[in-house]
Amino acid sequence: MNVLVDPRTLLEFNFGDYHPFKTYRLGLTYDLIDLYGLVSREGITVIEPRAATEEEALAFHNEGYLEVLRLADSGMWVPNLFSHGLGSGDNPVFPGVYEWGMLVAGASIDCANAVAAGDASIAFNMAGGLHHAMPACASGFCHINDVALAIHALLAHGKRVVYLDIDAHHGDGVQHAFYKTDRVLTISVHQDGHTIFPGTGFIGEMGQDAGRGYAMNIPLHPGARDDVYERVFSELVFPAVDRYKPDIVVTQLGADAIIGDLVASLGMSLALFERFVTRVRDLEIPWLALGGGGYAVENVVRAWTLAWARMNDVELPDEIPAQWQTEAARYGLALGSLRGSQADEPSTHRVLDTANHTIDTIKQDVLPLINP
Ligand SMILES: [Zn+2]
Repeated sequence: MNVLVDPRTLLEFNFGDYHPFKTYRLGLTYDLIDLYGLVSREGITVIEPRAATEEEALAFHNEGYLEVLRLADSGMWVPNLFSHGLGSGDNPVFPGVYEWGMLVAGASIDCANAVAAGDASIAFNMAGGLHHAMPACASGFCHINDVALAIHALLAHGKRVVYLDIDAHHGDGVQHAFYKTDRVLTISVHQDGHTIFPGTGFIGEMGQDAGRGYAMNIPLHPGARDDVYERVFSELVFPAVDRYKPDIVVTQLGADAIIGDLVASLGMSLALFERFVTRVRDLEIPWLALGGGGYAVENVVRAWTLAWARMNDVELPDEIPAQWQTEAARYGLALGSLRGSQADEPSTHRVLDTANHTIDTIKQDVLPLINP
């Protein structure tokens, strides 16, 4: 059985008209998935988000921060808001922000528990993947780190976890959570921190103490295309998973590495995103799949719809159901076809040379440190 979180109750939350994080992308994606018949299908169970408890959130966040977030949300003026990363343009205190964070987290934890208990082979919370939040700090549009909380739930089941993060941004909050343990191998493929938020995720960040060798960072230069990603996946990411032999795979499937994003500058194609998802599926390891970033809404809708189809071994037609087009038009969105037409261009020589050097270095210095 596969589990899908219905994100529609989350659409009431709004980061603001000028904020790039659009919660309506979740509704558009879910509705397209539904119209393709991938909600009400045998073998699929749909669950509603429920709020994480404070006790659950304390597995990663500190009590003072949760209190500040809750008070700020209730409309109270909290003088130390800014020291917790709150109230900035990135991390606004919008109405219901505490509930938003806790609902997303509760959904990811429920998915984790379903996978760990063997009730689900794959569970997908497209609203999750909020990988930047820190124990006492909101960061990068993320107030509560649902990923870290879900992985803590998996660890409580005694599981060994690989975390694969293909979002354009470094998965810094999740790396921080598990930097000193070998029970979680975190792998992040992202745009180089010299060129984009959060400014971390360099090769030398490879874990500490018992966790040394269990954080792998693969920074890519802006403009990296499928040729680079193919090498990264074939020579680093999947070999690392093979070496580690996890009980559970957790993916953060941010769609902002796909070409045309409004925030990031990487050049992954949609076809490659789909191939990555298929490769994870083919591992046949219980899988917790989470969403993440994605600021070109059409990329998000396409990527996560195709991902859920692949998770269920369904090959979708390219034609978009007419009913969805009508709904999307309200957001000024139109899709000619599900996959669109992206030219498969090679990376420039400079980008390719740098990537080759990065890949060879990680292969030599980081990959051998991973033991089953
Ligand atoms: Zn991102």
